[in-house]
Amino acid sequence: MKNYLSRVDKRILNVIRNIGRAADRQGLRAYIVGGIVRDIILGRKNLDIDIVTEGPAIPFAQSVAKATGAKVMVYPQFGTATLQWPFGLRLDLVAARQETYPHPGALPQVRPGTLKDDLFRRDFTINAMAICLNHDRWGQLVDEFGGLSDLREKKIRVLHERSFSDDPTRILRCVRFEQRLRFHIEPWTLGLLKQALREEVIPAINGGDKRGVDNVKPPRYFTEFKKMLAEEQPQRHLTRLKALGALRIVDDALKTDFHLLKQIQQRLSQAPEDIACNRWLISLMAITGTMSGAKLRSFLRKFPFRKEESESILQAARSEHVLRKLSAPKLSRSQAYGILKPLHQDTVVYLRFRVSQKKVVQRVDQYLRHDAGTRIDIDGEDLKRLGVSPGKKIGTILQKVLFMKIDGRVKNREQQLAAAAALAAK
Ligand code: ATP
Repeated sequence: MKNYLSRVDKRILNVIRNIGRAADRQGLRAYIVGGIVRDIILGRKNLDIDIVTEGPAIPFAQSVAKATGAKVMVYPQFGTATLQWPFGLRLDLVAARQETYPHPGALPQVRPGTLKDDLFRRDFTINAMAICLNHDRWGQLVDEFGGLSDLREKKIRVLHERSFSDDPTRILRCVRFEQRLRFHIEPWTLGLLKQALREEVIPAINGGDKRGVDNVKPPRYFTEFKKMLAEEQPQRHLTRLKALGALRIVDDALKTDFHLLKQIQQRLSQAPEDIACNRWLISLMAITGTMSGAKLRSFLRKFPFRKEESESILQAARSEHVLRKLSAPKLSRSQAYGILKPLHQDTVVYLRFRVSQKKVVQRVDQYLRHDAGTRIDIDGEDLKRLGVSPGKKIGTILQKVLFMKIDGRVKNREQQLAAAAALAAK
């Protein structure tokens, strides 16, 4: 029988071998499951490893942590644990479980189950395979639902006909895997997806929830939508969602043509490595920029954005005047700093990729790479010693000295003190 673990990166292999040994010692079965199995077979990199145990996961995780020196976090309320290794590997452990949905879109009821139950609760056949880590079946694939042949035939297929109505976030996941892997949604699944959309399985998010209080909540759609926006070519995912009439799962107001998003993605793909970028947020800025103020505000209220995220999205939507100022024929570095400093870093990065004008790109890069982090070597105490009385004037002088430093007109502390003294005397 084929050993699928022969394809795994050495460091990961070492870790999962230890997990297999610990499972043997404790007399339970341990498997890697889900997306990681799909990616091992496809030869795609993935550092998110899910382990399912047939037997309690928490004491098992603790014993693995002890044997391998990993950091362990346990979540007794969910019966899950996370192990983390310094080289960036993270591993989630959970005992095999069975899930049932009391009504469409409800939170599932969870009971202990077998590995097969656990695979059956998953979204698509390609994500519902496991590989055994115990010595006697090391590397053996568990494929109860035809995941391997779907993977070979590039098909996205749900496991049962209630899948999308049980959990409508799977509609977003379905499109995401289809577009990311360049697979296709096989006809039965596509029919079920369209039927779920027709049957309005998404009441909790866009208006009244008539069926109960525990339906899928906006944060779960949002988590999936963010993953989509962080993909390499999110415009392809969104175009597909739009064609399926499924964009409204997130928000009706998103119906733009995604042209700007595509341009930004092209520029991002050639981005210098030192410009750190929050991909999902930049993508979101590109598609919310044309929304009316009221629609954008209601969109921002609907999902659990952090304060700085919504602020930066609003700033991006109102950035035309910033770009106009940045494209002035003459602009000193300190002037560019003055324009960009009030904005959140993510907004500035967005603007960097939003524009094509070379001059503006250079100015923004200069800011991001050098000027944004510039500090001066004098402070308010120095100014008081120079005789400046406490108050607004101190801040004004310090800012002028900072601008002079950015423009290269003062360098060391001595020059800065001299400049401050001259400004104070004015
Ligand atoms: P990615 O490569 O984007 O991380 P993934 O498949 O690893 O994809 P996760 O969201 O980390 O995605 O989920 C891990 C696994 O959990 C999936 O492969 C799937 O088996 C299962 N899963 C995740 N979300 C759902 C869902 N909504 N319904 C059913 N199963 C799910």
